[in-house]
Amino acid sequence: MIYLDHAAATPVSSRVLKAMTPYLTEQFFNPSAAYLPAKRVREAFDTAKGQIANFIGAKGNDLVITSGATEANALAFTSVKAEFSARGKLPTAIAPKILVLETEHSSVLENARRYGCETIRVDHTGLIDLTDLRAKLTDSVELVSVSLANNELGTIQPLAEIAELLRQTRLSRLQRGITTQLLLHSDASQGLALLELNVARLGVDLLTLNAAKVSGPKGVGALYVGHHVHLSPLVAGGGQERGLRAGTENVAGAIGFAAALEAVKGHTAAARKKYTRLVENLKSELSQAKAPPLFLGCPKHQLANFLPVSFPGLDAERLIYLLEEQGVCVSTGAACAASKGEPSHVLRAIGLSPAEIAGSLRLSLGVLNDEANVRAAGQLICAAVNAEAERLGYVR
Ligand code: PLP
Repeated sequence: MIYLDHAAATPVSSRVLKAMTPYLTEQFFNPSAAYLPAKRVREAFDTAKGQIANFIGAKGNDLVITSGATEANALAFTSVKAEFSARGKLPTAIAPKILVLETEHSSVLENARRYGCETIRVDHTGLIDLTDLRAKLTDSVELVSVSLANNELGTIQPLAEIAELLRQTRLSRLQRGITTQLLLHSDASQGLALLELNVARLGVDLLTLNAAKVSGPKGVGALYVGHHVHLSPLVAGGGQERGLRAGTENVAGAIGFAAALEAVKGHTAAARKKYTRLVENLKSELSQAKAPPLFLGCPKHQLANFLPVSFPGLDAERLIYLLEEQGVCVSTGAACAASKGEPSHVLRAIGLSPAEIAGSLRLSLGVLNDEANVRAAGQLICAAVNAEAERLGYVR
């Protein structure tokens, strides 16, 4: 099998599994229990939190460990002081409190909608339209949510620039006596292995992390919460995680996440170099196909392991099926959107035509790839594209 879908899931590395195993077996104690073995488990959990936090230039106490990025995103939005209506929706007449990028992951879009939100436009490469953000940044806005890198295109957003714009807006509000909070949240699920992250440098108040995309366990994530940010817990219970996330801590999960981050720490530059070369090779293989590829996203600001590509006029679903028969796993976009069978809201937002969207694949490289299997995958994709192009009588 050649796996080209690392943006959807990554294999847990043996190092991560080894770090987790004792906490699923002999060190099974509840970290809240009073006896010594349990206190050791508490210590191990706190150390893991410290390591995860250290990866983004924060402290363990600044983090809430969650069941993944979806929960972290949902928790981040509780920083908005909104009254929920009985049905979880606000009347549309209420001024938007949250601005989100129109290309955000559904876990951002769907949760933001519950508080009243407006979307910010992107350009044809998936980069934020800063003019649109400026225009929509009214005095009622309490939170702006822009992902670090998009999960379909790999487009990396200029977070520091956005943070600076929010800083100026806060100042201007203060000068006018307006005390409404204005926070910056970013979903950094993608790119943890490829970008050096520091919350202070990024200028974010809230940051979502995801273990599943970096060879850690699925169902584990974290939310960085700046000291000045107030959240309301999504679930009530035993008061764990300083009352922000009740429930017995996922000790093994947090330890696995920390081990996964330790493994990539200090190697981001080398990883970028490796994937840039592999993606270039793959691009030149694909360029020989009978149906010309349209490479998507922003080459200057793109995660090095991402290659979103469209073969306009072809049916990506059929390509996936043909490739699966050859042992190549790719996707049409976000795994969850693909399973709903809906056209990607991301590809629509960057202005692709229906034919371009229908012919789009997301290829994302990772730990399971090397030069040989990427070359082989490139040839198999070309062969599948050529077979489809011939079947449809498509001539280059
Ligand atoms: N946000 C982004 C950008 C993602 O890529 C994903 C996973 O695909 C998620 C959120 C959701 O993560 P999880 O399934 O761990 O909740």
